[in-house]
Amino acid sequence: MKAIFVDEPLHIRIAEVERPSIGEKEVLIRIISAGICGSDVGIYYGTNSLVTYPRLIGHEYGGEVVEVGSAVKSLKAGDLVSVDPVRACGHCYACTHGRHNVCSTLEVTGVHRDGGFAEYVAAEEQYCYPLEMPDFPKEYLCLVEPYSIGVQVNHRGRVSKEDHVLIMGSGPIGLCIMQAAKYRGAKVTMTDLVDSRLERAKDMGADEVFNAGTDGYLDQALATTQDGQGFTVVIDTICSTWSFPLALDMACPAGRVVTLGLINKPSEVAQVSITKKELDVIGSRLSNSRFPEVLECFKNGAFTPQKLCTHRISYRDVEKAICEIKEHPENVCKIIICFDN
Ligand code: MN
Ligand code: ZN
Repeated sequence: MKAIFVDEPLHIRIAEVERPSIGEKEVLIRIISAGICGSDVGIYYGTNSLVTYPRLIGHEYGGEVVEVGSAVKSLKAGDLVSVDPVRACGHCYACTHGRHNVCSTLEVTGVHRDGGFAEYVAAEEQYCYPLEMPDFPKEYLCLVEPYSIGVQVNHRGRVSKEDHVLIMGSGPIGLCIMQAAKYRGAKVTMTDLVDSRLERAKDMGADEVFNAGTDGYLDQALATTQDGQGFTVVIDTICSTWSFPLALDMACPAGRVVTLGLINKPSEVAQVSITKKELDVIGSRLSNSRFPEVLECFKNGAFTPQKLCTHRISYRDVEKAICEIKEHPENVCKIIICFDN
């Protein structure tokens, strides 16, 4: 079968490897499609601080079950599934407190162990979530994972209908967070430097958008909040050294700030900016078994993966696509690579 490896930064390789064999609790999945994530772009360019090389990349993937192990009960050949990439130990503090997505020995498929940019993947039954919607376009199965990030962020930020949420950045993850926040009834404002991204954000449900390249956009955005006091929840999807202090500034007293960054460079933050407003600063990583909630929202139409995905390409063009995401973010949102052609 074909599989996509990053051997080291800037070296991608489409290799012919042996199809994985399955254990008794595992299923073999013929991959239909896989999503390219910003973190995959980081793996390619050498800016992802968590990855180990060489790596069969990809953590957003889904496909059709073609073989089941002898102990598998809930799945059968022909089922369409998306696969949660989080692998946890089950017995550390985090795991025993319902937080296995930050397990002390956490591994993620496509980052710390082999992932889903391949024609076939073996996965344990417990990580596979079946799609029970006959009419749903099956190539969007791979987008359950990015939407699970959006759901997780909303859980962590305790977003409710009382909130006015600011999402800094309107890339794919910002859009997933936005639709999850809208589903919870919140009002959502988004920012970005790229107008086409802001237009997509509006089209997908954002209430207000501001171009961060416009003079005075921060004051204009603040003016839309209650008494101009700031946003009740601020979510930083820019994940840069400068964006974190800005997120703290944009939150109202008693508000919450959610971070998603994996950057390992320090931001300059005065403690008073957190203490004075008694802000909750909350990290959000991967997702804590949020796949069922996402599939529910695919079903009820709250999430629109068909609007998130702008490009469908053959796996042969993966390197070109990664470079396009990096160099021309204005032209693309979510790119999915297909293995069935
Ligand atoms: Mn991702
Ligand atoms: Zn653990």
